[in-house]
Amino acid sequence: MKLYSTNNKDLRVSFQEAVFNSMPQDKGLYMPVEIPELEKEFIANIEKYSLREIAYKIASTLLKDEIPAADLKALIEDAANFDAPVVKLAEQTFVLELFHGPSLAFKDFGARFMSRVMAYFLKDGEQLLDVLVATSGDTGGAVALGFLGVPNTRVTILFPKGKVSEVQRLQLTTNGKNIRAIAVDGTFDDCQALVKQAFADEELNLKFRLTSANSINIARLIPQTFYYFNAYAQLKRQGFSDVVFSVPSGNFGNIGAGLLAYKMGLPVHQFIAATNANDTVPRFLETGVYETKPSVQTYANAMDVGAPSNWVRIMDLFKEDRKVLQELVKAYRFTDDETLAGIAEIFEKFNYVACPHTAIAYLATKAYAEKNPNDESAKVFLSTAHVCKFPEVFSKEMLAKIELPEQVKSLKNNPELYDELGKDFEGFKGYLLGE
Ligand SMILES: *Cc1c(COP(=O)(O)O)cnc(C)c1O
Repeated sequence: MKLYSTNNKDLRVSFQEAVFNSMPQDKGLYMPVEIPELEKEFIANIEKYSLREIAYKIASTLLKDEIPAADLKALIEDAANFDAPVVKLAEQTFVLELFHGPSLAFKDFGARFMSRVMAYFLKDGEQLLDVLVATSGDTGGAVALGFLGVPNTRVTILFPKGKVSEVQRLQLTTNGKNIRAIAVDGTFDDCQALVKQAFADEELNLKFRLTSANSINIARLIPQTFYYFNAYAQLKRQGFSDVVFSVPSGNFGNIGAGLLAYKMGLPVHQFIAATNANDTVPRFLETGVYETKPSVQTYANAMDVGAPSNWVRIMDLFKEDRKVLQELVKAYRFTDDETLAGIAEIFEKFNYVACPHTAIAYLATKAYAEKNPNDESAKVFLSTAHVCKFPEVFSKEMLAKIELPEQVKSLKNNPELYDELGKDFEGFKGYLLGE
């Protein structure tokens, strides 16, 4: 797989280079020069395959020249070692649960695959790979648990002190080994700014081999296609051949992977981009004007993004055909009050507790179904995080129904280890340099 930059169609880099760089120097995003379709025969029989078989098929179609078959197979077995079940709630309503991985969020798919790809490419004796990551909550946990114990890597995570939930904090601070956590006395934006400054700092770049782990890395995008095909396989087993996916969206990596899957031959006739008040993309799809805004805080805080970093990729995928994009992706946005009402409705109707992000995706499927009453396809909304990560929005009744997964129970027994820093760069730099 060769990749170009969305800012330079003539650039050619290898997959390995794209993975370690994360972003081209011209500040575009890496995109595959060719997007191969999966064989028709495979898709026609997809219901016969497991998640890991489907994942291997996709990965080998894309990466066969980069990673030999046996190594890729082993990598997939290790990376995609948890399930992504489609749960039926009503006749045509399904939820795709993406929160059964180590950090209980869909980001585990991307982070786990990426960490293993990086480890694979790191040769023995090479300089330690230093991963720096700022998190508002979910990214840090997925990256920490993705890289935990991966040889030749070290992860430094910055999180805003007091601004992540308890489960999120425990996922960052109880790891030890090659994972360091820093509570920054500031906001997520302050954490992000510190990481950006570190990447731009000459002295740090001379001393360390720095890399970022954020959602623009191509190695996070690819594995997110796996669960779309796998969800389609599960629905086929239940007699559906047509699917609508509703995706709770922030940086638009998740839905971007869905659209990549579509380009690879996934038979889906509608995507729904569901957002909170951070509605840059819904406004664009309505008006054709792309205008970013500073982010506003909502209950679905993993989607509080005013300038979605992966949107360029989606525009690039459909550069020849904006009309197709506007038909294929419908967007809906919801307020915090609507989100709470959505959580309550899902509980009453289906006896199911959904996190705020998931509830927004549900509301979008409902809005779409009301507008398209003759659409008989399966409506699938993606559940991106386990409810125990966002306990503050639920009623007592709902809380009583939430079962703590094993991953969380064990965390509570471990001691928390983290450092505390201010939001000034000199302090952070000194910390990295070991001063
Ligand atoms: C990251 C995240 C999202 C947003 O996903 P994008 O790929 O950034 O659009 C939605 N829900 C949860 C729980 C998340 O952690």
